Amino acid sequence: MTMEPLKNYIDAAWCAPREGQYLDNYRPRTGQVYGQIPDSGPDDIDQAVAAAMRAFPKWKATSRAERSALLLKIAAGLEQRLDAFAEAESEDQGKPLQLARHMDIPRAIDNFRFFAGAILHQEERAFATHDLAFNYTRREPIGVAGLISPWNLPLYLLTWKIAPALATGNTVVAKPSELTSVTAHLLTEVMHAAGLPPGVCNIVYGRGARAGDALVAHPDVPLLSFTGGTATAALIGQRAAPFYKKLSLELGGKNPALIFKDCDLEAALATTLRSSMLNQGEICLCTSRIFVEDELYPKFVERFVKLVQDLKVGDPREPHQFMGALVSQAHRSKVHSFVERARAEGLTVLCGGAPLSLEGDLQGGYYYQPTVVAAPHSKFEIMQQEVFGPVVTVTPFRSFEDAISQANSTRYGLAATVWTQNIHTAHRAAAALDAGQVWVNTWMLRDLRVPFGGMKDSGVGREGGVDSLDFFTEQKNICLLLTAATD
Ligand code: NAD
Repeated sequence: MTMEPLKNYIDAAWCAPREGQYLDNYRPRTGQVYGQIPDSGPDDIDQAVAAAMRAFPKWKATSRAERSALLLKIAAGLEQRLDAFAEAESEDQGKPLQLARHMDIPRAIDNFRFFAGAILHQEERAFATHDLAFNYTRREPIGVAGLISPWNLPLYLLTWKIAPALATGNTVVAKPSELTSVTAHLLTEVMHAAGLPPGVCNIVYGRGARAGDALVAHPDVPLLSFTGGTATAALIGQRAAPFYKKLSLELGGKNPALIFKDCDLEAALATTLRSSMLNQGEICLCTSRIFVEDELYPKFVERFVKLVQDLKVGDPREPHQFMGALVSQAHRSKVHSFVERARAEGLTVLCGGAPLSLEGDLQGGYYYQPTVVAAPHSKFEIMQQEVFGPVVTVTPFRSFEDAISQANSTRYGLAATVWTQNIHTAHRAAAALDAGQVWVNTWMLRDLRVPFGGMKDSGVGREGGVDSLDFFTEQKNICLLLTAATD
């Protein structure tokens, strides 16, 4: 079955791209084209930004309660259509349907509910300046927010930006990934039905280098929230710099898991399996390097490899399916090329290491074997570059210092996991790791209030809770004289 070509959503109307160009949209499960998305250009972005600018003064003037109520309506609309959204996300991205149903779409709903509540409880700051004056701050929305999101958690990450941007009174032009635009389109239907005023949230589809670039370089878009690759962020930084735009950059990772010999082994094995392979390893927070204390290393690796070999990869629509297809043919080739070069560098592939061909209509799908590579130290390419697929390395460590030094040996610093039952080791490791998020004896346990973001090349800024409210607003300080001047 093929879908109708998507249309951009601008000023509360669905419109074809101005130049009439489209991109094929592939279904990762089968490798077939099943629809088309607009290949929008600068004219479409101009039109969307103009609509967002027109809508800004009125939207900015709405009360927090009104904005909160609208976000709650959008959340309810999403929840009503949860199954349709989950099916669309799985078809478009390749992820298991059960994962979309239990993680991606519920989280998108939570994003709207969370910021609908957060905006009602936002506090301002006040300072008494001796007996002379009283200072207080006001947080004001900035204008048209440009929001650019990736393909791995499409609706989850898009709404993580749209919800706080709207809650704080900004208007939006968003560009989802060209590989996964379908749930963004469904969201426009929900926002429309909820009564979001025209121009408040516009969604334009297309390629990064064309529509994305036009949004980044648009002079009337003063703030940009981007989630995606580190190399793309460097381009965005260059393009945005002449306009002094406010930037939030959530980028790639090379996340280590440190497994100390005193850990709860069963929990460490089960969770590290999930943290390495969930969503086919296509989560920025996925573990990609496992370091195991040398005494435990042989036992851990033997059991871990067995668990990975037992993982089922298959039709994402099957109930209980743990792993589906990678997002695209090109991405699968990229993942495989990392494994091939690791082999050429002399590393041992302990399991997996090849594309997987399934039967029937799944034959053309982008499946890949879950893969474990043994690496004696951290200098290899596969230990340094982000693979972003179902590929994880295992490496022994000799001491606490060795573990930290290897874990910190990349340009990335997004997330890390530590497995130990010794509370001192846990705190020491958490303090020493270069990572914006450290999980101890768990993984991916998220609280939407906590600061989320990366150190080093994994990002600039933090999102989540008050950090998102901060990013999407600008503070103004007001100083009021309390006593009349005496001279
Ligand atoms: P990507 O950088 O290729 O694309 C991300 C988005 O940017 C897409 O919408 C794309 O169209 C757009 N884009 C590409 N080039 C652009 C340009 N020149 N100007 C403007 N926009 C442009 O990333 P991807 O392959 O879609 O996603 C995978 C990456 O995202 C991985 O590196 C992953 O770690 C990262 N990621 C990070 C987080 C996080 O929160 N830190 C979360 C998810 C994914």
